[in-house]
Amino acid sequence: MSEIKKHSSELPLVVIVGRPNVGKSTLFNRLIRKRVAIVDDQPGVTRDRLYRPTTWNGKSFLLTDTGGFFGPDEDPLSPGVQEQIEEAAKYAEVLCMVVDGSEGPTGLDQDTADRIRRLSKGRKGKEIKVVVAVNKCDNPSVDYSTAFYELGFKDVVPVSAIHGYGTGNLLDLLVAPLPLSELPDEEDDIPGIALLGRPNVGKSTLLNALCGEKRSLVSTIPGTTRDPVDTLIEWEGKLFRIIDTAGIRRRGKMSQGLDRYSLMRGKAALARANAALLLIDGSEGPTESDAKVFSIAHDMGRAAVLLVNKWDAVEKDTQTAGATVKKIREMMPWLNYAEVQLISALSGQRLQRIFPCIEQALENHKRRIPTAELNRALETFIAKKPPPSRHGRIANIYYWTQANSTPPTFILFVNDPERIHFSYQRYLINQLYETFDFQGTPLRLIVRARRSRDVERPRRKQSDFDAAESETLMEDWDE
Ligand code: GDP
Ligand code: GDP
Repeated sequence: MSEIKKHSSELPLVVIVGRPNVGKSTLFNRLIRKRVAIVDDQPGVTRDRLYRPTTWNGKSFLLTDTGGFFGPDEDPLSPGVQEQIEEAAKYAEVLCMVVDGSEGPTGLDQDTADRIRRLSKGRKGKEIKVVVAVNKCDNPSVDYSTAFYELGFKDVVPVSAIHGYGTGNLLDLLVAPLPLSELPDEEDDIPGIALLGRPNVGKSTLLNALCGEKRSLVSTIPGTTRDPVDTLIEWEGKLFRIIDTAGIRRRGKMSQGLDRYSLMRGKAALARANAALLLIDGSEGPTESDAKVFSIAHDMGRAAVLLVNKWDAVEKDTQTAGATVKKIREMMPWLNYAEVQLISALSGQRLQRIFPCIEQALENHKRRIPTAELNRALETFIAKKPPPSRHGRIANIYYWTQANSTPPTFILFVNDPERIHFSYQRYLINQLYETFDFQGTPLRLIVRARRSRDVERPRRKQSDFDAAESETLMEDWDE
């Protein structure tokens, strides 16, 4: 936990600006080639302000989407929001001004262009390079971009964020003034850990404690205190990427929309995470809202560790710890695989247990059990408790195989899936937990029909389940 490697804050900043609903978030996602930001059809609806390290032609930069600079109740054109955007733009090497090609240049586009020019002039000696991305040019044979030269910028390029047209040309222009540089870390190989919990459970305090110092490094990116910037933490020579969702708290009142926003935000963090640290406020005990937030991590199949924080503030006797864990297990039985640690982010109590737990969970999340071993185990599971026949019809279980990992996913081949009751599936999953070390990870079981004469033929090797099939299976399962 000694050393923090704050990665990308030294990279040149490329900032996406533009009026609402022109497609900034969509373009952002396209350029980083991942779905991270939250795209919403309603103009001005909540989006994350995200910074992502990106590389094009050997040049690395930090891409940010100002679409997320305003909250659900904020007018994106209000002076406060504009100030924030200008603040970010001040540090930018390059601005990507997005406009809507299908609408032609509007007054608002002209205003934005004027503002950018003022900003650029304000930076003595170093004008900001501006590239105009004319978005929604969905048909490559129709170029709407020429009309936008009237905004007064030299580089104007048609793109379609949705289809990906023109993004290569756009990236060429964006990186033109940047120096060659590599990404500081292979960030995708570093396990991502999402910090999840209701507001005030202590996420920020925990992150600061794990870093061992205030995250001053993060503040090199403008105006960041509530932004989801990843923090790299080294523990015993291994790197972990902590994805902070402390910013779940937004200015203004807690409304219906905000709740949805919190959950969306949790999802966005989890989308980039391998594991989740699920925080409970120990001074209050587990609540239904905790369960609701945590169920996202479970449904998305992430490894998980449960942390009961503020343990220092709990009045305790010898029974308290046991009773707290019992209450959690009763309230969230579906999360039984997650180890529980009673910690205090404030006093540092038991924080040293967190990374070993995560590591174990991540390892189990990736675990693959060979088919032969799995089927030897299956025989004993069935011998201990045969599947009950349903409606007088006999359930035949042929074999199973692990089709996927992260999370471990098993396919059970039977004569008729209807006959394998949910409770029997749960029995098999529990047996897997008891037999193999799967602590910290959810498991998936898919039941599929197979005709008995097919089973007699040579079985397909596990490797025959290619990624594509597994994905489809996962989708079936998710539904
Ligand atoms: P932002 O407010 O500027 O961040 O805009 P969003 O990324 O949320 O996009 C606003 C709307 O425009 C969404 O409905 C997108 O699906 C749509 N959109 C974005 N890019 C394109 C595009 O290339 N073509 C078309 N036809 N629609 C797009
Ligand atoms: P977040 O909203 O989840 O990021 O929560 P914060 O980290 O901002 O913490 C909310 C409040 O709880 C602050 O007043 C913290 O000082 C307090 N807090 C956080 N961790 C602990 C802890 O371990 N013990 C106690 N007693 N208070 C804590």
